[in-house]
Amino acid sequence: MTTQLPGTLADRVRGQVIRPGDDAYEEARHVYNAMIDAHPDLVVRCTGTDDVAATVRYAAENGRAVAVRGGGHSVPGFGTADGAVVVDLSLMQSVDVDPEQRTASAGGGTTWGRFNDATAASGLATTGGIISTTGLGGLTLGGGIGYLCRGYGLSCDNLVSAEVVTADGTVLTADDDRNADLFWALRGGGGNFGVVTRMTYRVHPVDTIYGGPMFFELADAPAIFAFFREFIRDAPREYGGFPAFQIAPPLPFVPEDRVGDTFIAVVSCWTGSEAEGERVIDRFRQVARPVAEHVGAMPYPALNSAFDPLVPPGLQHYWKAAFVTELTDDAIAAHVEHGARVPVVNSTMHLYPINGAVHDVAPDATAFGHRDATFAAVIAGMWPDPADNEAHTRWVKDYYAAIAPHSEAGGYTNFASADDQTRVAENYGANYQRLREVKRRYDPGNLFHLNQNIRP
Ligand SMILES: Cc1cc2nc3c(=O)[nH]c(=O)nc-3n(C[C@H](O)[C@H](O)[C@H](O)COP(=O)(O)OP(=O)(O)OC[C@H]3O[C@@H](n4cnc5c(N)ncnc54)[C@H](O)[C@@H]3O)c2cc1C
Repeated sequence: MTTQLPGTLADRVRGQVIRPGDDAYEEARHVYNAMIDAHPDLVVRCTGTDDVAATVRYAAENGRAVAVRGGGHSVPGFGTADGAVVVDLSLMQSVDVDPEQRTASAGGGTTWGRFNDATAASGLATTGGIISTTGLGGLTLGGGIGYLCRGYGLSCDNLVSAEVVTADGTVLTADDDRNADLFWALRGGGGNFGVVTRMTYRVHPVDTIYGGPMFFELADAPAIFAFFREFIRDAPREYGGFPAFQIAPPLPFVPEDRVGDTFIAVVSCWTGSEAEGERVIDRFRQVARPVAEHVGAMPYPALNSAFDPLVPPGLQHYWKAAFVTELTDDAIAAHVEHGARVPVVNSTMHLYPINGAVHDVAPDATAFGHRDATFAAVIAGMWPDPADNEAHTRWVKDYYAAIAPHSEAGGYTNFASADDQTRVAENYGANYQRLREVKRRYDPGNLFHLNQNIRP
């Protein structure tokens, strides 16, 4: 049983404090994954760092767990919890771009769509996720995989500084010179160490890209995977892209009689010249004839938001993740068997390459613990109808069981589900023990435990 929280927080913050019974509560208690049905004690829509610090202190004083919510995309729903105090950062989305210094700084609740639009105005970008509604915060702190990572590293590799509210409500700056141990841990250790209220990134000249999706017959899947395995070993770093299983949505470029069929897709993003991009992407057409494709020149933010309609808020989510060093023929066979059974248009498997610039960074230079892997695979179960929960969760579990013997022990923490807490050590990989030491230093009481939790 929880005791009623005293009503003093509203006097300490400028943002809205939402309690059970308030009109705004029903909407505020929910996150992106509709499977999560938690009832927090408070949701605080913070307007700035002072609000965050006051809310963290208040939660600590009252013995409440802190649920941190940025973009709200956590599959386990870490941005809400029964009885918790939610630090909602969604109002903190200001982005400042410095084109001369090639940096961009963003509030802790910024989504990639906002960030990319702001940096694109100066012809710049940094590695972010492939969906525009995902938050910078959760994605970067777990590592950050996307189209640009082969060229520019993970999102966390581009973080140059962070403003952090720690468990005692102190505001710190973490960078290479200040609180360097905390800065190290933030780059791969997730939300374990505090609330990041501002992040500054290195940004790169990325303007119009050349790319988009190609859909190939399922029968071509073994050849596409086998080609991708060889191609990606030393593909130019301007290439970012991934194979995926995808049911064709009703889009203008898909022949009407093929809508609803399952395909092996390749989604590509080329940041070099258009002519060279055409040549590189044409190599896929030499492997098999695409049934449908939508490849061309477009602004980077357009590709970053192209698949948003497939993943609207309010779907049920259950995901599994695996790191893969060698994509063996047996692994490909397992993908083909289970990928062909993808049950619904929203669900998918993506096999993201994380070589190139990701491997330039030493394995212990940041907390991201799996720089030896070539790929990060995600089996992303996403579906609209809760009546399908058992069947669709089963598809994810069976698929994962089939690829696990061909994968490393750990998976990417940002793709993990709530039942992956038992895999935390292997998911954080080689840097787990050092992460525990930093956790002991900055959050010995484990106030921030609603995450893939590193126990102090
Ligand atoms: C549709 C979809 C697409 C995705 N695509 C990609 C992708 O392309 N690449 C990739 O790498 N990942 C991807 N992910 C996974 C994503 O990285 C994680 O779900 C991540 O946690 C989302 O961050 P968020 O801020 O949106 O989530 P939230 O639910 O708001 O946050 C999740 C957790 O992260 C921590 N956190 C978030 N913000 C902060 C902050 N400011 N300070 C401290 N802690 C914070 C907290 O522990 C929080 O509970 C995707 C997820 C979804 C649902």
